[in-house]
Amino acid sequence: MGRCSFCGRWSYRGILCPRCTSALEAWKREFPICSLCGRLMGRGVSQQLCPQCQEEKPPFRLARAVGPYRGMLKDVILDFKYKGRRSLSQPLGYLLAQVVAAEPLFGKPQVIIPVPLARQRLKERAFNQAELLAREVGRLLGLKVAEGVLLKERDTVPQAGLGRKERWINLKDTFALKRASIIEGQDVLLVDDVLTTGATVTACTIVLLQAGARSVSVATLATGIL
Ligand SMILES: [Zn+2]
Ligand SMILES: [Zn+2]
Repeated sequence: MGRCSFCGRWSYRGILCPRCTSALEAWKREFPICSLCGRLMGRGVSQQLCPQCQEEKPPFRLARAVGPYRGMLKDVILDFKYKGRRSLSQPLGYLLAQVVAAEPLFGKPQVIIPVPLARQRLKERAFNQAELLAREVGRLLGLKVAEGVLLKERDTVPQAGLGRKERWINLKDTFALKRASIIEGQDVLLVDDVLTTGATVTACTIVLLQAGARSVSVATLATGIL
């Protein structure tokens, strides 16, 4: 018997109570996902790929998430990021590890890289939520976590008016790599909290591939609805 990490109710079942578990999984009955970027497509859509991926495939192999960025999952992520509830990295990391373990397309990545925060942001927030998640996923799946390898040199400026590709290129220059030999020839699992347009993970993927990573796949807590 323990308390549910999300709602605090007493529960006999693991980390989340049955009610939170079923609320968290409700979307699976409603929305199909894009088999590449993992974002949710409209009800009843039967295509494999979302319009964006059809137009141009992202550089990462695949992206998957625990669920859409709404409802309970969104509230918990906001508490985790902005209210300093560090301990939420445990249940959230557990859910993320489950996503990776359940999807055979992830294969067996050798190294996990968290999406970095710019230094100023890190000061404001005291911790990088992606790093805490990456550690938890690494611990649960027995994978190496490479911290301080992918760095964000400055905060991103709003990029309205730029096309999708220009935005990636622009964003790519805000990231840098240290000790890049760690990722050379490796299959990298990139971890972040939320994927919305996919611009950030796309930019990180380009940087990692250019530095010699063999492949990059992406796992986030929440994803966008198209
Ligand atoms: Zn609960
Ligand atoms: Zn897609």
